[in-house]
Amino acid sequence: MRKKITVVGGGNVGASCAVNLALKELGDVVLVDVVEGVPQGKGLDALQMGPIEGYDVSITGANDYEQTANSDVVVITAGLARKPGMSRDDLLIANHKVVSSVAENIAKHSPNAILVLVTNPLDAMCWTAFTASKFPKHRVIGMAGVLDSARFRTFIAQELNVSVENVTAVVLGGHGDTMVPVVRLSNVSGIPMTELIPKDRLDAIVTRTANGGAEIVKHLKTGSAYYAPSAAAVEMVESILKDKKKVLPCAAYLEGEYGVNGLFVGVPVKLGAKGIEKIYEIQLTAEEKAALAKSAGAVQELVDILKKQ
Ligand code: NAD
Repeated sequence: MRKKITVVGGGNVGASCAVNLALKELGDVVLVDVVEGVPQGKGLDALQMGPIEGYDVSITGANDYEQTANSDVVVITAGLARKPGMSRDDLLIANHKVVSSVAENIAKHSPNAILVLVTNPLDAMCWTAFTASKFPKHRVIGMAGVLDSARFRTFIAQELNVSVENVTAVVLGGHGDTMVPVVRLSNVSGIPMTELIPKDRLDAIVTRTANGGAEIVKHLKTGSAYYAPSAAAVEMVESILKDKKKVLPCAAYLEGEYGVNGLFVGVPVKLGAKGIEKIYEIQLTAEEKAALAKSAGAVQELVDILKKQ
């Protein structure tokens, strides 16, 4: 029997997720949006790619949760996206309301699902979904690090004119300007990056990575990135549904790891059939620890606002 994947939010990221999920034949897809007709239309369009691309999965659209029942994985992309001049944090209260109601509906219809959060501000929205769904922590996972590290890898590969496949990058922390690309642990086919790229260039690449989302918002003017974000979410879904046990940077609920308590922050995790199967706690330098603490502090500030809602 095929797996069932619900994607909530049929906008740019959600619709691209549906297409990428189908292209990988990961399961039947239900696309949910509040706007009548949009998920139905986009779902039908994506379904009609099947004969061309050769996938045999169903893709349907809905405005409620009946059709989503007993989903294995639910990707949550519903909410507002950034416009120029907005930070991810500007979306906090509006998206908190959206994600709370989505998570409650999902918990009702798919009590055993694994949630993959995409909606921004990402780490705070993971907390919202965790609280609203009451799911165990290993079944609530945030997508940010896979995207942030893909951006870092892209810029490194461009700089060195090498294959992106050879570039491995570690990015920790919250999904925001305070994210922590860990240069020390990033490499090109095992060769430390610090031996290949001078410090000033590396610093510039780290800064460009941290501002990677804003760079795209500035170009697009009416929205934010969606091709790479949807591919990143689908890589996580694939690792879960195929039980690949990939080690990926994801937002996970920390209870003491890295000195963080009661918050979702980006760390390396093992993703398999159970969701987060392991959190890797790696030794950090004093400077990296301080940067991670600052990033976690920024997430804490948002969660503190939500706790007063
Ligand atoms: P979009 O505006 O294109 O799509 C959002 C969709 O959500 C819209 O179709 C809207 O109708 C729908 N929606 C709103 N409220 C809903 C509800 N209650 N139930 C169901 N659907 C609802 O935006 P997008 O570009 O697809 O981005 C979606 C979210 O993902 C944004 O919050 C954006 O900031 C975030 N994002 C996160 C990352 C990341 O790295 N985590 C990357 C890119 C985008």
